[in-house]
Amino acid sequence: MLSGMFSAIVSRLVNGIRRLWQTTHRAVWLTSVVAAVIALGGVATAVQRLADHHMAAVTERAASAWARQLATTVPGLDLVFLGERPSAQAQSVLTSLRAMSGLVRFKLYDLKGGLQLVSDSVATLPQPQDTDAASQDLARHVAQGRSGAADVRQGDGIRVPKVYSRSFVPVRHGASIIGVAEIWSDQSDSTAVSETSIRLAALATAVAIALGIGAVALFLRKRAGHARHALARAAFLSEHDVLTGALNHRDFSRRVEQACQQARARHSSAASSLAVICIDLDSFNDINNRHGHAVGDELLRRTCERLQSVLRGADLLARLAGDRFAVLQHGAADSGSVTALVQRIVSRLSEPHDLPGLPDALSVTASVGAALHGVDGDDASALMHNAELALLRAKASGRGSWSFYDASLDRRLQERRALANELREALAHGGLQLHFQPLYGSSATALPAALIGYEALARWPHPTRGWVPPVEFISVAEQTGQIQALGRWVLAAACAEAATWPAGLSVAVNLSAAQFGGGAASQTIVAEVAAALQTSGLAPGRLELEITESLLMNHTEQVLATLQALRKLGVRIAMDDFGTGYSSLAYLWRFPFDKLKIDRAFTQGLATDPRVAVIVRSIVTMAHSLSIRVNAEGVETMAQRDALWLQGCDELQGYLLGRPVPTDRLVHREAALALLAASKVRVRMA
Ligand code: C2E
Ligand code: CA
Ligand code: CA
Repeated sequence: MLSGMFSAIVSRLVNGIRRLWQTTHRAVWLTSVVAAVIALGGVATAVQRLADHHMAAVTERAASAWARQLATTVPGLDLVFLGERPSAQAQSVLTSLRAMSGLVRFKLYDLKGGLQLVSDSVATLPQPQDTDAASQDLARHVAQGRSGAADVRQGDGIRVPKVYSRSFVPVRHGASIIGVAEIWSDQSDSTAVSETSIRLAALATAVAIALGIGAVALFLRKRAGHARHALARAAFLSEHDVLTGALNHRDFSRRVEQACQQARARHSSAASSLAVICIDLDSFNDINNRHGHAVGDELLRRTCERLQSVLRGADLLARLAGDRFAVLQHGAADSGSVTALVQRIVSRLSEPHDLPGLPDALSVTASVGAALHGVDGDDASALMHNAELALLRAKASGRGSWSFYDASLDRRLQERRALANELREALAHGGLQLHFQPLYGSSATALPAALIGYEALARWPHPTRGWVPPVEFISVAEQTGQIQALGRWVLAAACAEAATWPAGLSVAVNLSAAQFGGGAASQTIVAEVAAALQTSGLAPGRLELEITESLLMNHTEQVLATLQALRKLGVRIAMDDFGTGYSSLAYLWRFPFDKLKIDRAFTQGLATDPRVAVIVRSIVTMAHSLSIRVNAEGVETMAQRDALWLQGCDELQGYLLGRPVPTDRLVHREAALALLAASKVRVRMA
């Protein structure tokens, strides 16, 4: 447990130092450390000298005091200095004085420097080796009244202490000097104390110097930093967008180009790890108009923050213009990692914003387009251009969607643009046709069924492209705002055509969700249907409008009101492609449809999966309980026809029963012609 605590403390210490090391400039640290080492040496020497001087003074004082003690307590001391041996009483005093704490040894010299007594054996005469000439000189000097001398020496630690001081002090009788005492005193303790204090003092000084230099350097650095900061701020503003702090268009392009060059230098292969992602807020202008520019600005700032929060360190963020942002993603090894980031962006940006001054949270979505370096372009301009094209495609497929650029997209976009222009031409000059596919119902429970009407399907015989598939030109019409004109024409043409049919036959017309638009546009569709009925003279009960679930997913209240208004005109409403959306049942409950058209996919599934029959059966049961008729589309085989009939479907439609055909080949017309031909034959025979 202790070792655990110890290692915890050590690791904290190491971490602390590491943090300091990281946060402080290295040069400052190195300067401080060097200064501290020099200071340590200098201070130690200086303090050592001071300490030695201090110790000499202290020992000299102590020695003088001892000498006074000697003079007053040893009987007949003056005689001893004159060369006599001390009396027994004097010997015992001398021996007890020698035992005084701290005293190691003493020697007594006469006024001429002659050694008269050594404390080791007070009874006997000293030997010549007990002293040396230098000591005798010193003694003579002191006897002549010069100031005493002291030095510090190293001993062997056995007979004499490791450290001891040697002082020469005069011994007085009254005012006159009678001899000189050389006194050795033990200094081990005081040396240890002074060594510790020397070390501490030196260390403290060194630390103080190190910190002082560090602090001064930091201060200077900070002052220089302020100036640098101001310059950096100016440079930053020239590269960044003022509102959001993101890079601006020019600098983003420059950085993307740099990254592309680096990528090219690194890889000889085409593919690399950069992607440019373009982001555009959906309906940002609406928000600006509705809530004001302050809210718009705040929204842009927050968008920027959110984008930044999903990026990694090396990724770059820019605001290109208005509500358009761009990201340069590094380390995008494949489309998978780009997809991951794109999805993070879309989902993060779709979270509602709580903006100051707005009572409710504001929901905004963003559309995103991405282009990969080495795949969709090699330089900044190609990558940015293609990411924007991908963004356009994403925008076209609805709010909050995203799309990748791929090489064929550019071509496809150009083609769609051309197609849109050609469609405009065709609409203006009668280039579109309506074909009609027959619908069969059961008047009785038995087959064959009776013809009950047709579904009108738009056709575009293109002079060079051939028949353009409706899914293609309808979506172009929806995206280019031509669907209103196209829808108006289909309604008028279908009603006009149906008005020429026998009264029992009805016509079904497909309506696109885009025809409902919202606001004024939904009024328009009601007015247009009414106008088509009126112009053609078709009874409203013979017109059926087919809508899809996608229409009901947005603006539901308004759409339901429009559907009610249409129904009031007397037309029937059918739910097309039933079963392919998500919440069909909720829609069925909210709006009284006249008919459900079970999607072709179910018809096709009947043969392969027995569960499909069960599903069809339940749809039919449920629809019937709500008084809704059921149509099954895409009947291509007899088996499908029989199975669907068996499940209780009210109507069938499909290639088996009749393909969509132009008006001159409608079934009832051909039947009528055949009848006519037969009657003519009969007439001729008659
Ligand atoms: P939809 O409304 O589901 O129309 C039925 C589609 O199924 C038609 O395709 C028809 O030709 C096809 N079809 C019918 N029977 C069979 C069959 O037995 N097997 C197979 N495989 N297909 C069959 P089409 O004409 O290509 O139309 C495609 C879609 O384009 C339509 O789907 C409809 O959503 C849209 N559309 C066509 N005309 C118009 C129009 O005038 N206005 C609007 N808004 N949309 C239209
Ligand atoms: Ca349809
Ligand atoms: Ca359908």
